[in-house]
Amino acid sequence: VLCWRMYNVELGVKVDPGKDFCGVSAELLAVVAGRLGIKDEGMLADTDVVVARKSFDARTKKDAEPRFSYTLDVRLSPKTARKLRLRTKQGDVMEGAGAPPVATGGGGGGPSVVVVGAGPAGLFAALELVEVGMKPIIVERGMPVERRGREIGALFHRRILNPDSNLCYGEGGAGTWSDGKLTTRIGRNSENVRKVLETLVAHGAPERILVDGKPHLGTDRLVRILRDMRAFLIERGATFRFDTKVEALLTRGGGDRGAISGLKLADGSEILADRVILAVGHSARPLYERLLDSGVSLEAKGIAVGFRIEHPQEMINELRYGAEIASMVDRGKGKVPVADYRLTQSLGADKSDEARQGSAKRGYQDRSCYSFCMCPGGQVVPTSVDPKEVCVNGMSFSKRESKWANAALVVSLSPKDVADDVFALEGAEAGNGPLRGVRWQSAMERRAAEMGGGNLVVPVQRVTDFMAGSSGRDADLPSSSYRLGVRAGPLHELYPSYVTEGLREALEAFERRMPGFVCDEALLHGVETRTSSPVQVERNADTLECPSMEGLFPTGEGAGYAGGIVSAAVDGIRVGQSVAMQVLSAAMSA
Ligand code: FAD
Repeated sequence: VLCWRMYNVELGVKVDPGKDFCGVSAELLAVVAGRLGIKDEGMLADTDVVVARKSFDARTKKDAEPRFSYTLDVRLSPKTARKLRLRTKQGDVMEGAGAPPVATGGGGGGPSVVVVGAGPAGLFAALELVEVGMKPIIVERGMPVERRGREIGALFHRRILNPDSNLCYGEGGAGTWSDGKLTTRIGRNSENVRKVLETLVAHGAPERILVDGKPHLGTDRLVRILRDMRAFLIERGATFRFDTKVEALLTRGGGDRGAISGLKLADGSEILADRVILAVGHSARPLYERLLDSGVSLEAKGIAVGFRIEHPQEMINELRYGAEIASMVDRGKGKVPVADYRLTQSLGADKSDEARQGSAKRGYQDRSCYSFCMCPGGQVVPTSVDPKEVCVNGMSFSKRESKWANAALVVSLSPKDVADDVFALEGAEAGNGPLRGVRWQSAMERRAAEMGGGNLVVPVQRVTDFMAGSSGRDADLPSSSYRLGVRAGPLHELYPSYVTEGLREALEAFERRMPGFVCDEALLHGVETRTSSPVQVERNADTLECPSMEGLFPTGEGAGYAGGIVSAAVDGIRVGQSVAMQVLSAAMSA
């Protein structure tokens, strides 16, 4: 049987059955047959066609009907292919481009490897290790998902914030109480991205994530998948130690390069280890300080900061689809998905080349503003791990049926931007240090907490008031999905003016592109500061080991090598494979 991949097969929303996402309908089969020039009905069966990818295309042009766009694998016998005169590459049909095979590991055993952090990076690294017969210990400061769920309930209903088990910390990591979007910018068809998606399906995710152009899971599904993954890892010899916080590295040797000998825990006890996979996410701030104390080299990274913007979901559906198609959404239950958006704007587009070069020389990058981590049918949630700091993010359940749509709206900052601000706030040492981004984030989160009045109340401002520079009044605020209370505040005064002006410039551009986006119903929530890690832990590009600390393998978002669930998981896979390879080759040469 030969496999032909067919791109850009489209079905209008009114024709597409919509609901059976992976299925091949008679309408779809007819389009494929037409494309291949098949007239004889019996020549192509629905079993010959497999949906490899399916996306909803909202089309912004007025007269174009929104449609589903398919990538299909069409399997034909050589005889049929000959009859149809299909060649290796014919227009948008390509031979032999089916899904890549999933890689598998080898056997073996090995000395002690500890994985710190049970987020996507840590868990996928651990899966690689058990695949070759190793038995890693997984140390996680937060709780298993069942208990974590209760703690998040206590946070939402009684304002009790457990500093070690919350929206950022606990089994599954930061992405568990999230929208569970599985989109990534690292290439949907790469072997490791496929592997992540297929592993999630093996642990209970719906198969549609393998074909959906914008796959997402939702918190409810993620929790079930994580329980299954934990059982699988334990069955293969991994040990989980929840409620166990790592405070520092134990090291031996000195000079230019130390070596890992284990970990010091917050309760004073120690775990010995030959190799440590460090997958602690972007909120492990005190641990960064301890890494520096141990001689691990860290570098400041650029960050992106701003607010979370929330609109009524129905309004976004109408802005994106128009009224007729928006009526087919039915709060996530209809055949048309709840609408999302992705907006980007280069700031200061009118800057001369000379001015741009001058800034680049002084270490400032051109800034951009973009929407990020959009949660249709979701809610704004607190991601603070300390009540003296306030920051927010977004989550949703699998059905995406809440009446709100939220997204981060952030401006990118270079390490130089941040250095200047931290220098002004805390002096030269902090301003020049590798942790200046952490200090900058924390300063803004403290300002937000003060503006909200404490107790995790979030300062908010109508977008129209933000644009006009007026504080607004509580009485005029539209409703918000944030459950711990909101209070009107002058968010336009919270950040340095270049951030505020950047957001205003971008919002004006977004309004031109999506008229109605800037309106009284749109509410900014402060602050969205933790979109990525402000630090990168140095590591060797081939071995993925830290050059300044033998046996330390930094991975995932916190180490500065990933952003998002799938890319963190992929980075975890790469690091897990590298550690497994190192251990197995050491065993073979011993
Ligand atoms: P993390 O997931 O942060 O995991 C790190 C783990 O290390 C945590 O469990 C933490 O408890 C543990 N840890 C930290 N310090 C210590 C210590 N000292 N000792 C022991 N354990 C420690 N991304 C998407 O792709 N799609 C989304 O829809 C999405 N929504 C999000 C919604 C929210 C509310 C948040 C907060 C994030 C969201 N993200 C989303 C981002 C995504 O969650 C992260 O990019 C991803 O989880 C990073 O994975 P990681 O494994 O590198 O780190």
